[in-house]
Amino acid sequence: MEIKKNEVYTMTISDLGSEGEGIGKIDGFTLFVKDAVIGDEIEVKVIKLKKNYGYGRLMRVIKPSPYRVEPKCPKARACGGCQLQHMDYKKQLEYKQNKVQNLLERVGKISDYEMAPIIGMENPYFYRNKAQFPVGRNKDGDIVAGFYAGRTHSIIDTECCYIQHPLNTELIRCVKDWMTQYHIEPYDETSGKGLVRHILTRIGYVTGEVMVCLVINGERLPSQQPLIEALTKIKGMTSICINVNKERTNVILGSKVKTLWGRGYIEDYIGDVKYQISPLSFYQVNPVQTKMLYGKALEFAGLSGSETVWDLYCGIGTISLFLAKNAAHVYGVEIVPQAVEDAKNNAKINGIENAEFFVGKAEEVVPDFYERKHARGSGEAHADVIVVDPPRKGCDEKLLETMVKMAPERIVYVSCDPATLARDLKYLEGEGYKVKKVQCVDMFGQGVHVETVCLISRIK
Ligand code: SAH
Repeated sequence: MEIKKNEVYTMTISDLGSEGEGIGKIDGFTLFVKDAVIGDEIEVKVIKLKKNYGYGRLMRVIKPSPYRVEPKCPKARACGGCQLQHMDYKKQLEYKQNKVQNLLERVGKISDYEMAPIIGMENPYFYRNKAQFPVGRNKDGDIVAGFYAGRTHSIIDTECCYIQHPLNTELIRCVKDWMTQYHIEPYDETSGKGLVRHILTRIGYVTGEVMVCLVINGERLPSQQPLIEALTKIKGMTSICINVNKERTNVILGSKVKTLWGRGYIEDYIGDVKYQISPLSFYQVNPVQTKMLYGKALEFAGLSGSETVWDLYCGIGTISLFLAKNAAHVYGVEIVPQAVEDAKNNAKINGIENAEFFVGKAEEVVPDFYERKHARGSGEAHADVIVVDPPRKGCDEKLLETMVKMAPERIVYVSCDPATLARDLKYLEGEGYKVKKVQCVDMFGQGVHVETVCLISRIK
């Protein structure tokens, strides 16, 4: 049978792709269908054809999969924020664990390792402590704020987001009302005109402290007093600031922040370590699961108190400070200067004196440090344990090469992208290391992303 564009077919979904989409076959021809769940029998319209596969739009579920559930959020299908809300949470976890396992084995050629069951969330809703809502206008000219529709830049107005801290509903309403009343123009991507681009919010899970930062296409905020008055009525308000971003780019934040009211940061705890978090710094978005993740990282690091530890891609020093109490010395490396300022401050407010932080690219700072110390025959070129927690693109090969030269007994790899993790593990296994343990942690319920922490030991 020849599959034709715009025709409607029936099919059964037999697998799930890397973005959570359903995969099935019509007469041997593979089709990818967003919003379809493994086990669904569906009616599908073919919307795009390639030589060996195609894409379909889910038109109707004929017989729902036993894993299909009604999404809590009425906007789940249109919004690009969540990909798996229509799938039972237990199945979501299984899907994530399988994704990691497949990539490690297929791409990384890893075998003979221990993999404990993924650590899931007790409540996979309302868990995020950070939101970045784009602001714009809808067809009727009303101010909207929320999320982009999947793969587009049209904004879905979100009254209540089911994965965000519930307080965000109030915060967004406050900003939208102020914009309407004082005629503050939202930014328009097409013309590059207008002022307010994004509303960034952060909420301390333990402390309840709240930050609102407006990302603006300008240097100052007109009519800021009434906004401050309205926002400060909200319980927990600690920091109101603006971030200046006048570039015509998809990058959300600019590099300049001005505090309009209160402090320039909020504080929060993970375990008994206290952290100061400023708008430009990276901080894990799921506080409950972060504690689980760092607990595993600490366990895998196997520290006895005498070790020299490196924490690469350290952000505000979260993992560094978590480990410092059990190590002789911790070095952290991070590219964002403000995050390193936060890291140094965080060491201070926790009375931690054995942690040192460097600003720069890990793939430059670490090789430089190593070459300098090694040339002097200094023992400092050695590390006992190296922790890496890179962004999605994984570690630069130059860095991996130096890590191997530093000959740590153990490497703890925290990863937010299993594909680059698999690639980097393959490299390390080729250089005298062996992957011993793998633990997945679900930090992003209803979404497709998964966090993984691995213990890699030196065998040669
Ligand atoms: N370990 C931290 C942060 C992990 S996120 C935590 O758990 O909170 C990854 C971090 O790597 C971000 O803070 C990002 O700014 C930083 N980063 C990105 N590229 C980098 C590079 N080439 N060298 C060093 N840090 C980098």
